[in-house]
Amino acid sequence: MERIKLPKKWPFDTILTSNYCKEHTYIKDGVEHVKLCQMMMVDGIECCPKCVLNKINMQFEADILQKYMHNFKRSNYNILFKKSILLDKTILNATFDTYKAETTEEKSNKLLCLQIVERFKNGQIFNVLLQGNQGAGKSHLAYSLLRKLNDVGEDVTCLFVSVEEMMRLIKETFNNKESKYTEQYFLDLLSSVDYLVLDDIGAETGAIDTSKIATDFVQRVLYAVTNSRQDKVTISTTNLDSNKLFTMYDKKLISRLLKNPKYVLFKETTDKRMLSLPF
Ligand SMILES: [Zn+2]
Repeated sequence: MERIKLPKKWPFDTILTSNYCKEHTYIKDGVEHVKLCQMMMVDGIECCPKCVLNKINMQFEADILQKYMHNFKRSNYNILFKKSILLDKTILNATFDTYKAETTEEKSNKLLCLQIVERFKNGQIFNVLLQGNQGAGKSHLAYSLLRKLNDVGEDVTCLFVSVEEMMRLIKETFNNKESKYTEQYFLDLLSSVDYLVLDDIGAETGAIDTSKIATDFVQRVLYAVTNSRQDKVTISTTNLDSNKLFTMYDKKLISRLLKNPKYVLFKETTDKRMLSLPF
């Protein structure tokens, strides 16, 4: 829209002319009538004051809308950075570029994740399960996936949630009424985003080598989350194999998580974090 230049000072030089604008109408008894509006000269240009006013209003509304859309898109983009729940803050630096793929398995899994990004970009919807040894870089790849998807479009929303930390925060609200991290807060947030990572499923139940069964509370929260995301992408990471998942959790819950899934499996990769320790 062409911007309107308004005279800088008031009063400015205005003279009514003998011409009338016929653009404006009013309705009387169900019939539309033209309401003539006398034109005027403003700084040497003949114009209709009503048309000028309408144009100013439209421009004002367009400016407000543009500002709103800008803020809306920026807040979508920032969900990943501002609302993600992380146990390990170093994950914030994780990208595909910083993922060190050395073994054949790491290289093929990185490639697989990049292909998954492309499929999501093309509008496909399916769940992803990154499964395998602790420290194989599953969370790194999962966060890298989100980073890529977050850059795709301004209206895309992504969120990374450590399941263990989320459960801890929710439990904390039982005694701390000031905390915003209620069960409802997480259910609303996790159900709203387009791409969600549920990181380290199973860790919240404690030692995963025991035959511990997830508590009703954990099952209830995870079930509500997966239930609300049936038409959205959920990317899960876990150290547990599928048998253990089915033993520890409600079968319906795991079936939801594994519905139409793409697996990224780490069978050979050892703990990358342990290898990088200086001893
Ligand atoms: Zn007019």
